Amino acid sequence: MPAVAKVEASRAQQEVDRLAALRPAQRAFAWFAAHEPHLRRWQMELARIPAPPFGEAARAEWLRARFAELGLEDVHVDSVGNVLGIHRGTEKAARHVAITAHIDTVFPAGTPLDIREEGGKLCGPGISDNASGVTALLALAAALADSPVRHSANILFVGNVGEEGEGDLRGMRHLFSDPRWKDSIAHTIVVDGSGTDTIVTQALGSRRFEVTVRGPGGHSWSDFGAPNPIVILSRAIATFTRAKLPAEPRTSASVGVIQGGTSVNTIPESASARVDIRSTSSQEMERLERALRVAVEEAVAEDSGSQRRNAPAKSRAAFEIASIGSRPAAELREGARILEVIRAVDAHLGNTARLHRASTDANIPLSLGLEAVSLGAGGSGGGAHTLHEWYDPSGRELALQRILLTALTLAGVPE
Ligand SMILES: [Zn+2]
Repeated sequence: MPAVAKVEASRAQQEVDRLAALRPAQRAFAWFAAHEPHLRRWQMELARIPAPPFGEAARAEWLRARFAELGLEDVHVDSVGNVLGIHRGTEKAARHVAITAHIDTVFPAGTPLDIREEGGKLCGPGISDNASGVTALLALAAALADSPVRHSANILFVGNVGEEGEGDLRGMRHLFSDPRWKDSIAHTIVVDGSGTDTIVTQALGSRRFEVTVRGPGGHSWSDFGAPNPIVILSRAIATFTRAKLPAEPRTSASVGVIQGGTSVNTIPESASARVDIRSTSSQEMERLERALRVAVEEAVAEDSGSQRRNAPAKSRAAFEIASIGSRPAAELREGARILEVIRAVDAHLGNTARLHRASTDANIPLSLGLEAVSLGAGGSGGGAHTLHEWYDPSGRELALQRILLTALTLAGVPE
């Protein structure tokens, strides 16, 4: 570590140690452990409200009411459905440290939400991902409301929509497209899932496509020679999956869904495939996107060029490639203040954590060059995205102290 960085790191450590020893901060820390039964009730109540992709309104309304009860200011639901509330700082300039947690789940509307407590564990769909994160937001807001701790910058709480799957981070995209927030949020702490052992600093990017090939269709014997979309699509996939993927920057490509055809003796009218491309590098994702397009174009051209030289134009195959998701790749810069502070907080709390790469809500601020990380809400959990999901809140106060201390240090607490 260069000498200057070392001095900076120790300064952050001094700040964290000083702040953690303040009586109001101690009081906020004590709130967490004393109110665990309350946190469980919130978490189960929240998880019982359906929040399928693009259907988060009921859960948003519940969260809005809790934010208002806890005395946050400017509590409102924005035009895409994010729930916002501010714990006001002492300084005039409207700087914000944002703490966010996604409120949507992967479970479609109608999924039975059998949320229950079993031997100290909380069980049911979405209980960890991300009811634990949203509960952390409520715990932090409640502890701040209970404690006289004063901080300089505002702390902005956001329960955001659209993190999962085809939600495609729309809640965070919206938040960071509004100059009011984009220009005033210097640091973002995303709370997603359980644990305290990771700091997500690298945003894994993804591009998702649906490739559709269409033809006139027909009878497998009497119309033989008509372009066959399943065969064309298969050739395209075979070519695409031979594209070279670098080990570094790490990149992956997968075909997750394939559909088409009506019966064994019918030439299909269409066939489609869903393709998932991921990389830590946007250039690699663009390169693979081009490779996909070329593979499909060639497969279609090869078909109309070979078997059916004299066929009428209308019987040729056609294709389209539709984007069904795009998440930017990005990385927290070396020496970022937010990382320095979390490192110091972890040292103070005796917590060990490793840097991690994932696709989270932090992708959006990171891709804009802003400082952001994703942290766990403590405790432990498993079975995410299944009906057997569980969350064990044992020791969750460590994560809550960790997030609070990080947010307060970033916001600044006057001597
Ligand atoms: Zn999540």
